[in-house]
Amino acid sequence: MSIKNISQDSIEVSCNNCEACCCRLEVILISETGVPHYYIEESESGGSVMARLEDGWCVALDRNTMKCTIYDKRPWVCREFATGSYECLVERKEHLE
Ligand code: SF4
Ligand code: SF4
Repeated sequence: MSIKNISQDSIEVSCNNCEACCCRLEVILISETGVPHYYIEESESGGSVMARLEDGWCVALDRNTMKCTIYDKRPWVCREFATGSYECLVERKEHLE
């Protein structure tokens, strides 16, 4: 699957027409951004990650609005996950189509 093919399938790429697909990915905490401790758990490898519910979504996601409830304190990984990036398009394709 190439970037070109994914992009051609996308009419509009916006977090507003997404179901927070990327918030089901494992989020490793690599810097201190103020994430509340009760949202953090230890991974199998011993690192700190955002806790996730049984269905895979991050515990910090508001399931009614599908928005991040700790946006100003969200992990660095979440800040770097760019809308329209290859990784974003892959997640959208997997979960929205
Ligand atoms: S960054 Fe991409 S995958 Fe994540 S919510 Fe926005 S549009 Fe969806
Ligand atoms: S911290 Fe926020 S942006 Fe990051 S995965 Fe969780 S809900 Fe999504």
